[in-house]
Amino acid sequence: MAEQEASGLQVLLSTLQSSCDKDVILNILSVLTDLLSLGTGRRIQYVISKGGSEALLQALSAAARTEPPDHSTLLPLLRLLARVGQRDRKFGLKVQKAEATDIILSLTRRNLDHHLPLTHCLWVLRVCASNVTTGTMLGINGAMELLFKVITPYSKRHVRTVRAAIGALAALLKSKSNSRRAVNRGYLGGLLRLYQDWHRNDVSNNYIYIRRGLLLCLKYITNIQLGRETFLGSKGMEILFTSVQDCLSCKNLDPIITTATQILRKCYPKEHLPVATVSSSYSFPLPGNAKAEPPCEESEGDYESDGEEEAEKDLDNEDGESKEEDYDLETDVNKLRSKPVLDRPEEDLGQYEAMCPELSHNFQELELESEEEKSLKDRTESLPSAPSHFIPSATSAKHPNCRWRNQSVTEMGPDPDEQDFKVPLQSWRKKEECRWDQNDEKRVIAEATQDTDSCEEEDAARSRVLALRPLPKDAAWYKKLFYPHCEASINPSPGGRLESSDIVRNLLEKHQGDVLFHSPRFYTARAKCVKSIPGYRDLAFPDFWGHQPPPHSKPMLERKQGVQRDKVLDDVRRLIQPGDVIGRTVFDLDEPSSCSSPGAPDCLTFFSKFESGNLRKAIQVREFEYDLIMNADVNSNQHHQWFYFEVRDMKLAVPYRFNIINCEKFNSQFNYGMQPVMYSVKEAVQGRPRWIRAGHDICYYKNHYHCRATTGGGMRGKFYYTLTFSIKFPHKDDVCYLAYHYPYTYSTMMSHLDILEQNRNPKKVYWRQQTLCQTLGGNPCPLLTITAMPESKKRNDLEQFCNRPYVFLTARVHPGESNASWVMKGTLEFLVSSDPIADLLRKCFIFKIVPMLNPDGVINGNYRCSLSGHDLNRQWMTPNSQLHPTIYHAKGLLYYLCSIGRAPLVFCDYHGHSQKKNVFLYGCSIKETLWQAGCMVDTAVITEDVGYRTLPKILDKVAPAFVMNSCSFLVEKSRESTARVVVWKEMGVLRSYTMESTYCSCSHGPYKGLQLGTQELEEMGSKFCLGLLILHLKSLPCSKEVMAQAALLLDLEEEITDRAQRRCSNSSLESDDEPPCVEEIDYNTDTISDCEEDFSELDQEIQEPLSWVEGEREDEGVTTGQTCSSRALRGLYISSQPASNSTALPLGSAALGLYNGFKSSPV
Ligand SMILES: [Zn+2]
Repeated sequence: MAEQEASGLQVLLSTLQSSCDKDVILNILSVLTDLLSLGTGRRIQYVISKGGSEALLQALSAAARTEPPDHSTLLPLLRLLARVGQRDRKFGLKVQKAEATDIILSLTRRNLDHHLPLTHCLWVLRVCASNVTTGTMLGINGAMELLFKVITPYSKRHVRTVRAAIGALAALLKSKSNSRRAVNRGYLGGLLRLYQDWHRNDVSNNYIYIRRGLLLCLKYITNIQLGRETFLGSKGMEILFTSVQDCLSCKNLDPIITTATQILRKCYPKEHLPVATVSSSYSFPLPGNAKAEPPCEESEGDYESDGEEEAEKDLDNEDGESKEEDYDLETDVNKLRSKPVLDRPEEDLGQYEAMCPELSHNFQELELESEEEKSLKDRTESLPSAPSHFIPSATSAKHPNCRWRNQSVTEMGPDPDEQDFKVPLQSWRKKEECRWDQNDEKRVIAEATQDTDSCEEEDAARSRVLALRPLPKDAAWYKKLFYPHCEASINPSPGGRLESSDIVRNLLEKHQGDVLFHSPRFYTARAKCVKSIPGYRDLAFPDFWGHQPPPHSKPMLERKQGVQRDKVLDDVRRLIQPGDVIGRTVFDLDEPSSCSSPGAPDCLTFFSKFESGNLRKAIQVREFEYDLIMNADVNSNQHHQWFYFEVRDMKLAVPYRFNIINCEKFNSQFNYGMQPVMYSVKEAVQGRPRWIRAGHDICYYKNHYHCRATTGGGMRGKFYYTLTFSIKFPHKDDVCYLAYHYPYTYSTMMSHLDILEQNRNPKKVYWRQQTLCQTLGGNPCPLLTITAMPESKKRNDLEQFCNRPYVFLTARVHPGESNASWVMKGTLEFLVSSDPIADLLRKCFIFKIVPMLNPDGVINGNYRCSLSGHDLNRQWMTPNSQLHPTIYHAKGLLYYLCSIGRAPLVFCDYHGHSQKKNVFLYGCSIKETLWQAGCMVDTAVITEDVGYRTLPKILDKVAPAFVMNSCSFLVEKSRESTARVVVWKEMGVLRSYTMESTYCSCSHGPYKGLQLGTQELEEMGSKFCLGLLILHLKSLPCSKEVMAQAALLLDLEEEITDRAQRRCSNSSLESDDEPPCVEEIDYNTDTISDCEEDFSELDQEIQEPLSWVEGEREDEGVTTGQTCSSRALRGLYISSQPASNSTALPLGSAALGLYNGFKSSPV
């Protein structure tokens, strides 16, 4: 039956190709026209699939041969061709095959004076040109010359024909060789003049589509460098910019403004970044002869030949559907199969035994008192400056176990019991080598004192002068705060700034542990021990003082319509109206002395030389606008995304615009409602110490800066993007900090660990802090072991203690992913808490945790790499003990656990994801990978435990920010050296994950539409723990007591679980991918939405009533002159006209099955 039905259409089409009977042809065309006038794209696709394009083209060849041309046949035929052709991806090829390009061109040429058929020919020409090859051929054969005869200056006559010609020209100019031809023939200037003429004369805005059409021609022609140069030479920038100013007040001119803005941004003369070199301001000499990245100094004079155009090749988009993602999937089953292999001699694993003290601890000797004594001794030896007995009052008061607060059991560095433990060679040797940039004399001199002490005795802390950043200039407000009755007790120092130490002392008296699990004193003590390349001497206030989450989370910022367009126009104004441009450098990390008048009036003061700080240069563009440049990762010339800097001397109620001009990613969550974070010192001291989401008019777009082509060693893109945001600061003359995301420094983590171990209950919580290794920069990388103390010294209990399965957690291998640290903070706080679930969880597992895999990167403000300039999460396959010590030893410890039969049940590496919303896991599955890749491998033969899905499913239910639908279990070739894939493959850990947390928000669940704060991130960390407990109950045999306890505790969670389940069932169909940004981010590419727009525009154009075409007789040609035979034929297929405005199918058509092929099509 179905075949019979389909044949109805095929009979029509084959009759169309073979018949010489004009009436028959007319009737078939009429039937097809009716058919398609009802339908949508899917109907047309059906006709195409049945050979519609070929049949129509063949009919056109025949019709074109008749002399004189018979317009009654040609017109409906051309209309059908235009409608079918634009949706036929292979239409260009079919036109070439039918040798129809010449026919269409000559038809056009012959009808130059007959506007109705000419318009029809132009529509078809436009459709043919949408295929680049066919378009190029048309261009070679003179199509553009022809079109320029039709496109006239402003005139009310024949506008429809002019419009069709402009549409065809725009399509032709998508071919770069056509664009070149057009520029060479002077058409670009012609287009500008035409545009100006229409703009000037179309005062009532009746012909917006013609003006926009001309702009589209200019948009395509300026895709080539020659086009842009000619555009600039023809004063195109001024012409378009001026015309846009006239349009701004009129809402319905948006399409014109948008297109003009895109051209302006694209043609803005390219510049190099205003820095001497894109290589990082910081370099670090690597051990041995290791090279970080290829040297990236530019040769001069390569500006012109730089690679943007590459070969300006026309890419035929016949097979446009990119399968890039799938190409990256690993399809080699042997590579996917887990195989335990060692990347080092087996005897080297022995050293890691010392990192598992829990396995050999002799609890018979366990006497709390002695342990306390021992650890106190350790503490005083190893952390001389840390006030070991200081407990933030709020924390300890709240903590039910505060009586334990002075009983410290931390082991700093190698345990005294483990004297034979050899700290890996490189970590100590490093110290002698860690002289920073040898060439920077000033720096070396400045550091001389510090370096001399820092080698053996860890004495840096004593000699390092570390000061809190000066507080705001205006002293009046602290007087009020601290000395309401004694105005004169604080006097500003001669420099106008207050004596820092007094202020700090005063501040600390006031700071009564407002911030849980944070202590300014601990922070300072830890920060003094940090080794950084710049040799930090300043403490950023937020890290010192602490952060308290605001009481409510903030909704995502609603994107203001046209915000990007406005910003781009403002950027272009620098070029066209440079009157108010200042252009002075006000901050420069490379040459601090070169900054003109730092602290000058009417100018912000910037600073970034503190832990995790990142700002390289600030240029005051206009009075309240600054261009900012971020520093590349150490020993690298790229990876900028993270920023964290201080700004002061602001005015009140003025919006300051900041542009970070050297971003690299092609898109950003800043285009989808994310705001940066801000911390105000005045707010903090007044009792609101918090990072908050701030800024408005935020967008992210490609800018005119680029990188020299030869610099490209390892560069992914040669272009930069701008993140722009405006901020009104809350106070005048405040000190504020701005950051990409909530900062979390290395010292924050170290002091957090100090507080945690002091606040735990040592009777219940087994806690060991050791040093996994020293980093390249000479900072200890801590390793934690957390589990429950054995119930008793009875043999059974001790055995249970030793035999608990391991969970191995790591975080912050990518320094810019501070969200990962906040999640880890939540995990750690939960794990040592007195929560009964935590208690139970500790009895179920031994946790091995490396909370910061890349301390040096975090300290020095990197975004992605370590001091070696390498992405450490691409080194897990073959980590180098010298260059990647933290990875080498984390992997070594994992190998060791495997070698004693104790591979972890779960491995999870915490990350942040800059492009996506939600929190989700990446795991590894052979079968899912092969299925996704469409592999023909017999997956039935491969057995796979689907246990890797259990934990994410649980988290989906218990963690509000977690979304199962965002998870993926595919193994990509490009990820083969990540922690997740290596631990899965080499250690055979089934549940090996990367946990990605958004920087922005969630697309599902209770946090939908809200920007995540630190509270939500920390909650994720604690819910991850709960998930582990449930996983244990589901997957492992448990004792009766554990089950009973769990049943009791987890009932409490049921409500959450139910709620979560409901939420999930509602949302399972949604996708987590961002839709295309409302405004084009990259002006050099044409988005798919362009084509979609083309469809509907051309359809509309074709279907508009022809009656108003002046000077032409209305001539539909189809319904006139029907003969009996044609009517009979028509009746055979359709017994009545389709009802207009109705979705009902014409009666009787079903009998012949003509329409049945469309049954499934939405109409
Ligand atoms: Zn990451």
